[in-house]
Amino acid sequence: MADVSEDIEKAARLVLEATYVLALVGAGMSVESEIPPFRGPGGLWTKYGEPDMRGYDRFIADPKGWWESIVKREGYARDLVEGIAQARPNPGHFALAELEEMGILKYIITQNVDNLHYAAGSKNVAEIHGNIHKLRCVSCGRRFERDEINMEVIPPLCPHCKGYIKTDGVMFGEPIPPDVLKRCEDETGKCDCMLLLGTSAQVYPAAAFPSLVRRRGGSLIEVNPYDTALTAACHVVIRGHTGEALPLLVERIRSLRK
Ligand SMILES: [Zn+2]
Repeated sequence: MADVSEDIEKAARLVLEATYVLALVGAGMSVESEIPPFRGPGGLWTKYGEPDMRGYDRFIADPKGWWESIVKREGYARDLVEGIAQARPNPGHFALAELEEMGILKYIITQNVDNLHYAAGSKNVAEIHGNIHKLRCVSCGRRFERDEINMEVIPPLCPHCKGYIKTDGVMFGEPIPPDVLKRCEDETGKCDCMLLLGTSAQVYPAAAFPSLVRRRGGSLIEVNPYDTALTAACHVVIRGHTGEALPLLVERIRSLRK
């Protein structure tokens, strides 16, 4: 990583001036934990082809058939599940958990499904695209751990409302679960400093959040090894991997606060 100490210094000061700091996290943080990305070189969809854009419609039309194909775990789904099973949080995930513990980071909005923020000890996490370890009822929206649901019956049914259970991961064509979306909007409404971490935020709804913060006079801090569509709008850009830059940032914040 190039010398980013000046950028770290500026970012640390912006974070400390702010009253409500959020992190918006994208695939870059997962890739650093060796989870294969979807797009780009080495991406799962590059290897297997884009998944069915009507995935959610297919589920709704035939939950039983959908579950039967999931149990077989064909194609990219198998690689993703295996990659995530082996993945561990990286120093960037731990740095965010520490920043929350310090009372500075209020919430993480993540586009990743890998559970690594919780694994690192973060508590306030909105998973826009769901969590690969969980299941969710499409009728009442309740979430379950996998061992809470009887999988002997396909499709599995919600123990509360008898609705169909699907994986919590949000499929193509599926609306973002309303509880998560509302949480993201509420948090963004309070935010005056957003960390943009390993995300190009080109997929909605995440794409809208940084500009909302910026429009209300909040600051944007990007940590990314690459330029993104957001770079020009950011007050500070730290060119590097989150696993390297975030521990430095948190260390600097800690010493400035003393
Ligand atoms: Zn239900």
